Amino acid sequence: MWGWVVLALLLSNCTTLYNPATGRTETVLSTPVEMALGSLAMAQMGLGSLRMGRVDPTTFQRVTAIGERLAKVSDRQDLPYRFGVIRGKEWNAFALPGGTIYVYSGLAENATDDELAAVLGHEIGHVAARHAAKHLQADLGFAVLLRLAQATGVGPESAQIANSLYALFRNGYSRQDELQADRLGIRYAYEAGFDPNGMVSFFEKMLAKQPEDPLEQALIWQRTHPLTSERIAKAKAEIARIKEERFCPTCGRLYAPPAQFCTKDGTPLKGRSEPRRASP
Ligand SMILES: [Zn+2]
Ligand SMILES: [Zn+2]
Repeated sequence: MWGWVVLALLLSNCTTLYNPATGRTETVLSTPVEMALGSLAMAQMGLGSLRMGRVDPTTFQRVTAIGERLAKVSDRQDLPYRFGVIRGKEWNAFALPGGTIYVYSGLAENATDDELAAVLGHEIGHVAARHAAKHLQADLGFAVLLRLAQATGVGPESAQIANSLYALFRNGYSRQDELQADRLGIRYAYEAGFDPNGMVSFFEKMLAKQPEDPLEQALIWQRTHPLTSERIAKAKAEIARIKEERFCPTCGRLYAPPAQFCTKDGTPLKGRSEPRRASP
């Protein structure tokens, strides 16, 4: 009997869907559960505000404005994206389950708008592809996560979520997940009107950066997001590929060649050689 109750609970809190970000049908935690886990993790990690430390208001507004433009074109629209800034000279960024993304002021202040868009787009890609939620599922299991999602406050049990995420952010996602987030980030940056080459120039900037102290070295994006020649080459290939795509002037959907008409509204497609500038 108890088994059936648990099964019913599991079925109502996870959902099978086609995820356009990954191009697959996946069984995932429901979005309310993912958001509850994200809030719990934030409380446990001491992330009580979107502005952590004395963050320059201009930096905060810039991160929010760029992040919101990108969020509008994300494949995942069933949660509110929120953008936070942590004061610190680290060049790092991370996405929590549930759609909250933090970037360090050191990264934001050393990146151009196009580069920052690439980094935030990459993190939005992790959210759209549900990478952190999948990591928690694999690490802790559905049953534990569902019990934790119903918890009302932080406690010894909820520390499991924070510990699992700390390990993820320290060790990085799988190579496959990182490459997928790169592809999504490039696409979102382009669709939101940024120059997607910001991804490549940011990678090059990171390679040239020499961290001043070992602590900083342990915290930079380069450590958690290993930069390989493969990653840079794949980013360049993806940029070349999306520039070949054609878009529908009516609904804005993108189609790979040789498509000629929009399958949704029949409008003849147009090519693009330059990124669309989003209206201000
Ligand atoms: Zn990543
Ligand atoms: Zn259309």
